[in-house]
Amino acid sequence: MDDCIFCKIAAGDIPAEKVFEDGQVIAFRDLNPQAPTHVLVIPKRHIATLNDLGPDDEALVGHMHAVAAGVAKAEGFADIGYRTVFNCNEAGGQTVFHLHLHLLGGRAMHWPPG
Ligand code: 5GP
Ligand code: ZN
Repeated sequence: MDDCIFCKIAAGDIPAEKVFEDGQVIAFRDLNPQAPTHVLVIPKRHIATLNDLGPDDEALVGHMHAVAAGVAKAEGFADIGYRTVFNCNEAGGQTVFHLHLHLLGGRAMHWPPG
């Protein structure tokens, strides 16, 4: 997608502080962190929202979670705990319409979320 900011990050056209990359996904630090560690895990391929997953994307979504857990381990808060979030569409708080899994860690999380 030409005008998608996360496609541009995936292509290397916009800089981001990457913490992990493989053939399917990139993980990079959020520009406006909501926790001491706030990382976004995105597929390299453009998928707009969770609603747009195809039947062949289920392993990809599982992989995104495994990558988030790996980053949590690398950042040192896997055992104490952390949060992963997909926001979906406007009421879910989604502002960038390229699928991304938030990884938030390094502070206590609260429930219910805002
Ligand atoms: P959403 O609200 O869609 O669930 O989350 C989008 C996230 O992307 C926000 O936390 C926002 O701070 C982050 N973000 C938006 N634009 C950029 C960018 O250009 N670079 C990085 N690293 N993060 C971004
Ligand atoms: Zn995109």
